[in-house]
Amino acid sequence: MRKPMIAGNWKLHKTIPEAIELIEGLKKETAAVADVEIVVAPVFTALAAAAAAVKGSNIALAAQNCYFEKSGAFTGEVSPALLKDAGCSHVILGHSERRQIFGESNDLINRKVKAVLAEGLNAIFCIGETLEEREGDRMMDVLRSQVVDGLKNISAADMQRVVVAYEPVWAIGTGKTATGDQAQEAHSFVRGLISGLCGPDVASQTRILYGGSVKPDNVDGLMAQDDIDGTLVGGASLKVADFARIVAFEKN
Ligand code: PEP
Repeated sequence: MRKPMIAGNWKLHKTIPEAIELIEGLKKETAAVADVEIVVAPVFTALAAAAAAVKGSNIALAAQNCYFEKSGAFTGEVSPALLKDAGCSHVILGHSERRQIFGESNDLINRKVKAVLAEGLNAIFCIGETLEEREGDRMMDVLRSQVVDGLKNISAADMQRVVVAYEPVWAIGTGKTATGDQAQEAHSFVRGLISGLCGPDVASQTRILYGGSVKPDNVDGLMAQDDIDGTLVGGASLKVADFARIVAFEKN
């Protein structure tokens, strides 16, 4: 019922020629894939060239961030409208690196989610607890405020274009993956939060991705969990063979 999504977050990697080479490789390896939504998120400067490269393929294009204003005196920022103009259909918002390094709050992320949806784009909305929060028994409180505040005033209709990515901060780029059970517990809790906000129908249709050191050798176990509807992949999305294997996860 929920079409799986596998999304690659390239972070601050790849020049324009390198981005095109990676996309061309992925196009060859994933051409036959129809039952998985594939998304890649290059750096801003590579987006327009990447859009030309993915045209006519089964790969969609995401940006890694944006601002909530349409235009104006906001030096250094980029709007959802401009990302659409560059060829993006998705925007990753609230990634833990945005929250931790750039101090993004739940309120700011909420404004960005609304701006992206108002532009007709899809939001990949990231949440997740730190190790300290998990060990201090605060995981559920943190996830609750990230979901409730970050998705405040999003209508049930607009939720069709929101994909949630649960990414425990302690698992991002560390090689430490959540176990299937840990991820399932968090995903099921998050689905319950969405149900509280938008009702059970919306919650049962909303895709919740897992992110945090997803690799070819652990994706199958994660995707076997009931509430894991795909993955957001950092490091392993930078290599054609690894990302293609993750896209071709084995369903149990
Ligand atoms: C990410 O950046 O969203 C991520 C999950 O990174 P990694 O797969 O490298 O842990």
